Amino acid sequence: MPGASGSGAAPDWVVLLLSPWVLGLLGLCIGSFLNVVVHRLPTMYMRGWWAFDVADFALSDRRSWRSAFGSQVEPPAELAAAAGAINRQIEASPPLSLLAPRSRCPHCGHPLRASENVPILSWLALRGRCSACKAPIGLRYPLVEGATALLFALTALAYGPSWQTVVGCTAVSLLVAMALIDLDYTLLPDSLTIPLVAIGLAAAAAGVSVVSWRDAAIGALAGYGVLWALGVTWAVLFRKPNAMAEGDMKMLAGLGALLGWQSLPGILLVAAGVGSVIGIALIAVGKHRRETPIPFGPYLALAGLSALLLRERFVALAEDMLPFLGA
Ligand SMILES: [Zn+2]
Repeated sequence: MPGASGSGAAPDWVVLLLSPWVLGLLGLCIGSFLNVVVHRLPTMYMRGWWAFDVADFALSDRRSWRSAFGSQVEPPAELAAAAGAINRQIEASPPLSLLAPRSRCPHCGHPLRASENVPILSWLALRGRCSACKAPIGLRYPLVEGATALLFALTALAYGPSWQTVVGCTAVSLLVAMALIDLDYTLLPDSLTIPLVAIGLAAAAAGVSVVSWRDAAIGALAGYGVLWALGVTWAVLFRKPNAMAEGDMKMLAGLGALLGWQSLPGILLVAAGVGSVIGIALIAVGKHRRETPIPFGPYLALAGLSALLLRERFVALAEDMLPFLGA
């Protein structure tokens, strides 16, 4: 389907800009930024939870206290004191955003010079150690940069110099960030999942997606709905709380919007298959306790990225699995 989005050939500068080599280099830099996103976004989220849920809502909201325990019962003073302590801690913490302050060594706080922030090369030159305190810098940083570069280049190869490549690389960035944050914190931030849904739907509506707006809209609804239904069925059958997190539903909705509902059976099959094999292996070697929730996002990301690069195979897989759909 390369170049299927426009009428006529793309201008030379577009062909160059969207070539696998240029996008691979861009992917290195985006991968470097994704390392920052994966490191900071959960911190920003959790500060937000403390600020909103705990301090403002649960602790200092007298109305909710009284409707829960009766209007005669005064909220205990400890609650107000705890709310005050949390607020003081929030005010004492230096402001944090994705762009500021500059990247620092997590061990000693040494701010990274520009020469220490070059994707992959800096890590190699520093031999994986901070220049100030010599603490090891995880191998994950250069791996994320390299993987993002590779995925950008493969997307350019799969879709050619087209809007589909631009949409695809944006989706790659969101999926890589989601996979790592879910792996670290079992958390899929709305600020990553909702944009994936929006970009999928917008690209389809603008006619620059691999799928029609109809397939994208059905894909978004089906992606959310199928995991929701699975979660509810599980909860009813086993009389347990719903194990399916809403973030996973939004993430699969995004993949459905991006790649159409026809890709969803294959994505679910690959994600569940790889997830079970790795999950069972981790439990077998004692690396994972059966009770702790296993993040599903990394497997959804892996399957979604595969479907982005091999969409026709995933659709064919769905047709084999579900012949009655006759897509
Ligand atoms: Zn350091």
